[in-house]
Amino acid sequence: MSNAYRGLIVAVSGPSGVGKGTVLARVEELLEEANPGSVGHSISVTTRAPRGAEQDGVEYYFRTTEEFEQMIKDGKIVEYDKYVDNYYGTPSEPLDAMLKKGQDVLFDITIEGSLALNRMFDKDTATIFILPPSMEALENRLRGRGTETEEKIQKRLAQAKAEIKRAGEFEYIVTNDDLERAARDILAVITAEKLKASKNISTAKELE
Ligand code: 5GP
Repeated sequence: MSNAYRGLIVAVSGPSGVGKGTVLARVEELLEEANPGSVGHSISVTTRAPRGAEQDGVEYYFRTTEEFEQMIKDGKIVEYDKYVDNYYGTPSEPLDAMLKKGQDVLFDITIEGSLALNRMFDKDTATIFILPPSMEALENRLRGRGTETEEKIQKRLAQAKAEIKRAGEFEYIVTNDDLERAARDILAVITAEKLKASKNISTAKELE
């Protein structure tokens, strides 16, 4: 099988409120439509408490800080980061299994998480930073949730500005001005990554 069909880690970061989750859900839908079973799900481990109807083993594996730190010591976490005082990490074994099966794995992950996956999996990773169309649009989205105090909104905006300053550390930048376009831009990145000559040179050599 050509390397063009090897699983790819798609590590997506961007400020809170930029719509990463919605865009990634659409990307997954489009990939599944084109090739059923081609996308794997990584369920992260976190020390934060479940929100609303979230269930252990569905949205996240919910663990105590002691349990999380033990998993790190045991080498069961491939990358982790702290976000708003809680740990979030990617379990190693399921990710390895999905990549071996040739599945693509989409990640909505912190900046440090994306960069760590890129260091570890290198050629099998595409890092993408999602930008809002404007800071005004981001502010409107954060306000639109209607669940947060003004102080919290200002804090998130300040954090968003600091994160956007790091967009240049990513391989690709996609602007989420339109859900469908942003999703298709990510599909284009995935296709281009898989077609890189460095990944397909062995297929060409077979034809020599
Ligand atoms: P939330 O608490 O809203 O579900 O997630 C908070 C943040 O944690 C989001 O920015 C999300 O991208 C990030 N996140 C979720 N899982 C992981 C993970 O396994 N590793 C890292 N580094 N970040 C994660």
